[in-house]
Amino acid sequence: MSLDIHTILVMFAVLALMLSGLLALASLQAGAMSNSIRLWAFASLCISGGFFPAYFFRGPAFGYDWAVVLGTALLFSGIGLQYLGLRSFLGKPAHGAQVAVLVVSGTTIAFWLSLPYPDLALRAIINSFLLAVASLACARVLFVRVEAPLRTAFWFTGTAYAVQAAALLARAVRIAVDPADSYTLYGNSPTNSWSFFLASVVLLCVTFGFVLMVNYRLIADVHKIASRDMLTDAFTRRRLEEEAQRLLAHCARTGDVLAIMMIDVDHFKAVNDRFGHPVGDEVLRRLSAVARRSIRTDDYFARYGGEEFCILMLSTTEQEALVLAERLRQAYAASVVEVAGHDVKSTISIGVADTLRAGLDWHKLVCAADKALYGAKQQGRNRVVSYATLDLAFSA
Ligand code: GH3
Ligand code: MG
Ligand code: MG
Repeated sequence: MSLDIHTILVMFAVLALMLSGLLALASLQAGAMSNSIRLWAFASLCISGGFFPAYFFRGPAFGYDWAVVLGTALLFSGIGLQYLGLRSFLGKPAHGAQVAVLVVSGTTIAFWLSLPYPDLALRAIINSFLLAVASLACARVLFVRVEAPLRTAFWFTGTAYAVQAAALLARAVRIAVDPADSYTLYGNSPTNSWSFFLASVVLLCVTFGFVLMVNYRLIADVHKIASRDMLTDAFTRRRLEEEAQRLLAHCARTGDVLAIMMIDVDHFKAVNDRFGHPVGDEVLRRLSAVARRSIRTDDYFARYGGEEFCILMLSTTEQEALVLAERLRQAYAASVVEVAGHDVKSTISIGVADTLRAGLDWHKLVCAADKALYGAKQQGRNRVVSYATLDLAFSA
């Protein structure tokens, strides 16, 4: 089957131009990823510009050599910008100097072997080789350990780059074996048509792969925002309730026990009033840090709202939770927040309950822990009270 190289390249140039516009628009609203997406928008613009000369030339003609040099410079800039965009996406240092060396050397070689010393086969071999190296560098950035589902997008894009590198190397070898074949860059020789067709498909694949990476990163960010509290980095109430339902279902199925701690900062309003809200915020961060240090990795620590926090502990009875809560209360009471040379100290009250006494309904469990917390406040604050003792007191 014969392919018309002009149609392929012009269509691809138009597609790359459209992708460039879309990426430029996306970069306006992409927060921390803006820089990376903007680099890819410029990369697509360069690649589009690099392929457009195909529209004007069907072989050597007036201005052809200069068009090839310009096209080469734009293609090298395009892949260089993609590389920088990938590094920026991963938060790695830019490597701008390496990219500049690639673009300058690729362009210089294209110029040298087009105008003063024309050797178009050698030019095509060297260019293919350099672009293959650049593609491999991009693939290498992507073949790293990342969490799912981002991993899928990384591997998809990385594989597309690896295929591109392999195709470019094959092209270099093919031209080395049969140099006459490459004489007209924009000519319809089989090597040219098929390698540019494949290059166009792969370039689209890497761009879609990058868009997939951006999409997965945004989804991960949304999940994080929905499940982590901005101030304290504790789980949000939404996430807590999701986990609670899951853990309660587990308890209902297996007969396991779930304990809950409700924690409230004592006289927190007074801390805010006396030292200001920023200090109050620091106190909450401090409590979060102390609490996370004292729980096990499979416990759930969440901000229930305001200055109230909640800890869920699976396979833990109220009695065992009481011991952990007392340890947490003491650790927090001993901690200090330093403000302008002053030590700000505060205490917490904790209410503890478990599913054995309160049952397997989430609202009843929270209510039980809340009652115990209220009991702790009533008894003078800075203490731990369990629902069982209240329950006994009520029934006595
Ligand atoms: P008690 O010992 O009875 O718990 O008294 P309290 O003063 O701690 O209780 P109260 O519920 O009256 O006060 C809670 C305060 O927490 C009021 C509110 O302004 C403050 N607060 C809630 N969320 C935040 C926050 O994110 N940052 C700061 N700095 N303050 C907060
Ligand atoms: Mg309070
Ligand atoms: Mg409160």
